[in-house]
Amino acid sequence: MNIEGLKFGVIGGGIGGVAAALALRQRGAQVTVFEQAAELTEVGAGLQISENGMVVLRALNVVGETHEAGIRSYGTLLRDYRAGRSISEIPAPAAGPTYYYHRADLLGLLHKQALREGVEFRLGARVSRVHKHPSEAEVVLGDGTRLRVGCAIAADGGRSEIRVGLNGPEAPEFTHQVAWRATIPWARRDQKPCAVLTMGPGRHVVTYPLRDHTLMNIVAIEERSDWKEEGWRLRGEPEDLRARFFDFGGLVGEILGQVQEPHIWALFLRPVAEHWQNGRVALLGDAAHPTLPFMAQGACLALEDAWVLARSFDEQSGVTQALAAYETRRRPRAKRVVDAAGANARNFHLRGPMRLAAQMALLAIGPRLSRKYEWIYAYDATV
Ligand SMILES: Cc1cc2nc3c(=O)[nH]c(=O)nc-3n(C[C@H](O)[C@H](O)[C@H](O)COP(=O)(O)OP(=O)(O)OC[C@H]3O[C@@H](n4cnc5c(N)ncnc54)[C@H](O)[C@@H]3O)c2cc1C
Repeated sequence: MNIEGLKFGVIGGGIGGVAAALALRQRGAQVTVFEQAAELTEVGAGLQISENGMVVLRALNVVGETHEAGIRSYGTLLRDYRAGRSISEIPAPAAGPTYYYHRADLLGLLHKQALREGVEFRLGARVSRVHKHPSEAEVVLGDGTRLRVGCAIAADGGRSEIRVGLNGPEAPEFTHQVAWRATIPWARRDQKPCAVLTMGPGRHVVTYPLRDHTLMNIVAIEERSDWKEEGWRLRGEPEDLRARFFDFGGLVGEILGQVQEPHIWALFLRPVAEHWQNGRVALLGDAAHPTLPFMAQGACLALEDAWVLARSFDEQSGVTQALAAYETRRRPRAKRVVDAAGANARNFHLRGPMRLAAQMALLAIGPRLSRKYEWIYAYDATV
């Protein structure tokens, strides 16, 4: 169907929402993004965007051949925690290199392109409900304002309220994993930048450079049972972080020693949503398929969703058919990636003899490991 002039309301101005708005706008739709925050912001941390996400960013004209603001990765180095001993190296995927972005920079690039193409943004606009009507959707804002659109896309994140409207209430499950996140100033420039994954019993740390090598990004994950609160952006104490990773030595120990303002949050999980759409309203990104961060794929999946959603309108005769086709195409892929990330949570934190055995295996198969996940990286949503 031709969506030129059709009104879309996108709920959520995160990476998934803005990418979807852009993909729809590029087909001539009239798109408004409703974002509850007063400005478009992302936490001050990094994102790895693998080739399956990069193809969408390029197709949306968000990045060109120079991959603005991103750092090209040459692979992942696996290390043991005590002295940072090298275990193995995973080369960059054959499908194409991953890029490291500061989240705010990537969202800024998407936002700039969306504004250039004529997407409208309503900031400080919290959506409280979406109603379905026979041939429209009604977006209801927190202040009571009601707006009719031809189709509403809910990209309102892992704690999506629109998802509750489509699927009913669900209790999130605490994964017993807690993530610390920080960036520190960094002045060393590696010729061939890599992510470093340092594994210890019950914990792991991932580090990689950002912003032209001026920052080092740190994600430190630990298993913990004493956490009840689901939320982002809680401040943590740097001394607490160091105490919990006290036995991590080598370069990662040095990096953790420089952290001053860590943020911390518990990793809660909801399953991939059972219902993604109801004919006029569809879920996208974390709202549809929240994932653990252990494959670094949440934002990449949201980018894939955005492209496939918009393209479904090219291929189908009406809004209802397009949203149904989008769900059919995206659900199995998202579920498979989410499951792979869940399996990695266990692999990274092995203890005792299991850890040593796994390290031996990694030594042998590390160089081939990226091939195991080539099905993730080589997926091209744009063809
Ligand atoms: C530690 C960690 C590391 C990660 N690393 C990577 C990585 O390296 N690579 C990768 O691809 N992914 C990574 N991810 C996952 C990635 O961050 C998410 O999957 C991605 O940000 C999801 O984007 P989204 O647009 O769906 O949702 P979000 O980014 O959560 O955006 C949702 C937006 O909706 C707004 N909103 C919510 N409710 C409303 C409402 N009612 N009305 C209006 N606005 C609303 C919010 O304010 C927010 O701006 C990581 C995640 C974690 C936790």
